Amino acid sequence: MVPSLRSPTRAHPGPAVLSFLGGAGTVTGSRFLVETPSATVLIDCGLFQGLKALRRRNWDPFPVDPADVDAVVLTHAHVDHVGYLPRLCRQGFDGPVWCTPATAELAAVVLPDTGHLQEEEAAFANRAGYSKHRPALPLFTEADAHAALGTLEPLAFHRRRPIAPGVELTFRPAGHILGSATVELSLSGPDRTICFSGDLGRPSHPLLVPPEPPPAADIVVVESTYGDRRHVETDADQRLAEAVNRTARRGGTVVIPAFAVDRTEVVLLHLRQLAEQGAIPDLPVFVDSPMALRALNIYRRAVNDHDADIRRDLRGHRNAFDDGNVTEVHTVAESKALAGLHHPSIIISASGMATGGRVLHHLARLLPDRRNSVILVGYQAAGTRGRSLADGCRELKLLGRYVPVRAEVVDCGAFSVHADAEELLAWLGAAPRPPETVYVVHGEPEASLALHDAIEDRLDITAVVPRNLERVRLD
Ligand SMILES: [Zn+2]
Repeated sequence: MVPSLRSPTRAHPGPAVLSFLGGAGTVTGSRFLVETPSATVLIDCGLFQGLKALRRRNWDPFPVDPADVDAVVLTHAHVDHVGYLPRLCRQGFDGPVWCTPATAELAAVVLPDTGHLQEEEAAFANRAGYSKHRPALPLFTEADAHAALGTLEPLAFHRRRPIAPGVELTFRPAGHILGSATVELSLSGPDRTICFSGDLGRPSHPLLVPPEPPPAADIVVVESTYGDRRHVETDADQRLAEAVNRTARRGGTVVIPAFAVDRTEVVLLHLRQLAEQGAIPDLPVFVDSPMALRALNIYRRAVNDHDADIRRDLRGHRNAFDDGNVTEVHTVAESKALAGLHHPSIIISASGMATGGRVLHHLARLLPDRRNSVILVGYQAAGTRGRSLADGCRELKLLGRYVPVRAEVVDCGAFSVHADAEELLAWLGAAPRPPETVYVVHGEPEASLALHDAIEDRLDITAVVPRNLERVRLD
């Protein structure tokens, strides 16, 4: 039975409670509700993504009346952490949404794009007539997304701030993407401190400072995306350099499908550093994704402004991403014109798993020629074109027809932006005192269980993998 969370009044009348409204048993839809006698605060407001059964949850009524939520806190700007916000606002939430300044900037790129995609999907379903709903409606629109952006309240790292009666918030760098933060909530009613990890990055992120240790907290909610894995330290840099060199010698073109936010910047940084070391030739680089270019400008701003989560050696760097060889490709016409280039070059384009976007027409053109190469730099989910390429497919369906895969495919997947099991344990172990309970969330069940066991066995802390919609007392 699904417990009802609907409470009749704005303040929660009973004991302080934490509810897992998403991100439990799955890596998407992060939503954690903290209810105290004086306030109701939602940590993250993510969309469910992936399998249809999960995506359908986005249409379920929100378990409490959104008008009763006093404030929302966002850990970072990935869609599975912010993408439900326009829907929450449309259903009556009208409080402030606290996030770091860079998260607010990136959300302004990500949310309207998500709304636009929702509208396109609904329009497509109506044309194709496959939706059970007539007419098919978007979950929210681009206009809803713009309206939701008006609720964002930027708060810098390390500034403690009251955000609701009896609730104080502190952000610390999480090292995952620009602006990503861990969340500390100090509750004065039950006199408890809770820390949410959000998504934790790797200490080796080339652009961002390592995740800061958690504060002294009674309860920690930790992610477990890679809770059962250990990243093998292959030299991703070296693989990237070798692949670029082989392609250049063949006179071919490199195409890199990349996620618009963070991955594009990490790849550009690596390419700039490799060229500077003389490890690769100075090739023209084209960034062909309007969303990636908007995100790139935010990263450039952060480097220029010495943001606290940028690595010290990069703060103020004039050409962190660009040695003058990077061309921004804005229009579709400019993108198509890249087909006319006949010298070695590198094209970085979205989407990162080749599920859509401009990278498709580059792949359709470049895959049949042995001189070219595709370099994969991120996680490739099952069922995507990126996974098919990584698995060595001989032909690939693109834009309605099959093209032969003769280009070299190189998987440099080690550019992961999630901490692995050892790094998650090290982060938990770095707290000034061990928490009473750790809730393990944001993972497939096997990953969460593996981290759960490791926390109990090695850190001797009570760990729990909560069920979806489970409620636990905080006092
Ligand atoms: Zn994330």
